[in-house]
Amino acid sequence: MEAIRIENVRKVFGGTVTALDGLDLEIGAGELFFLLGGSGCGKTTLLRCIAGLETPTDGKIFFGETDVTALAPHKREAAMVFQSYALWPHLTVGQNIAFGLEERKVPKAEIKRRVAEALEMVRLGGYGDRSIDQMSGGQQQRVSLARALVVKPRCLLLDEPLSNLDAQLRVEMRREIRRIVKENGLTGIYVTHDQEEALAMADRMAVLSGGKIAQVGTPEEIYRTPVNSYVAGFIGETNLIEGEVMEMHDGFCFVKTDGAALIGKITVPGWQAKAGDAATVSIRPEAWRLHKSGGENEISGKITARSYLGQRIEYLVETPIGRQQVVEMNPRAIHETGDEVVLHASHGDVVVFGK
Ligand code: ATP
Repeated sequence: MEAIRIENVRKVFGGTVTALDGLDLEIGAGELFFLLGGSGCGKTTLLRCIAGLETPTDGKIFFGETDVTALAPHKREAAMVFQSYALWPHLTVGQNIAFGLEERKVPKAEIKRRVAEALEMVRLGGYGDRSIDQMSGGQQQRVSLARALVVKPRCLLLDEPLSNLDAQLRVEMRREIRRIVKENGLTGIYVTHDQEEALAMADRMAVLSGGKIAQVGTPEEIYRTPVNSYVAGFIGETNLIEGEVMEMHDGFCFVKTDGAALIGKITVPGWQAKAGDAATVSIRPEAWRLHKSGGENEISGKITARSYLGQRIEYLVETPIGRQQVVEMNPRAIHETGDEVVLHASHGDVVVFGK
């Protein structure tokens, strides 16, 4: 188990492409930490720098108190699992897993024992003699996990490990990977495009943008108190409404928008909002309540579309502040397209960002 510290890391490719732009990050020992962000934001480059597959242009990387910035990948005790399982098709499951140990000249009897142990860890006990092409996609991903675990790494680095699996298997493997990381006391760093995967699995996560950290926090912190509209829009759905700060009162920010005044809380650290500042209001679809009588942030509207999804209903509601996405969980009454409704959202569920 190892804490990982990234200090002011920059990575410039070919002198012109800045993939990482002075990034600082601390990942706790034994944490399952996620890197998220839009395409090209630097997630994979950061993971490859941690693995030692890329060298930072500037900055340092520490495993515990050891500076590993210049250390070769195989000396870092970090194992990587890829989206393409990168297994040898002509070797058996057991031979694939044993490969890294043979390279390290581990005695034969110990290799046999450790391969069997790694197969048990990923619940593939007894599959060692199978050939790779007799294994399903999910089983192959388990083999690549076993191959990473067999070298007893202190850190497990995962680059979109589940994206080649079908939806049901992905959900099952989420639990498996979390169990494996926790049972083995590993520090796990996981890159994904899948925000739901991150929300479901992560202890904490970082959202990256343009090679920098936009926000770090637990899934709940990132979802409930995003610090800007990029993070709010990247993790989950949200309604964004542009406006201007009117005043601050009792810790809440009053924002004038084109159609109504809205009240919410400020999540941007250090922003002293003052009258006239440009502001963006973020309201999650499930923060809106649909009732005849109103409440906080009340606004009237007309339903223009709805999708019935069993345990929830999604509506589009045309309002003076623009079209709002609204989600009702466990709906009792179902509204029809064309119904006039009143929306309201608690002040505490509404977030206000500065520009
Ligand atoms: P994606 O989600 O699309 O995989 P990412 O967040 O993982 O994206 P990176 O792959 O880290 O992003 O890429 C960050 C930036 O660095 C991009 O602009 C990319 O084109 C560039 N880049 C990455 N690797 C190289 C390389 N070997 N040579 C040149 N540019 C690179």
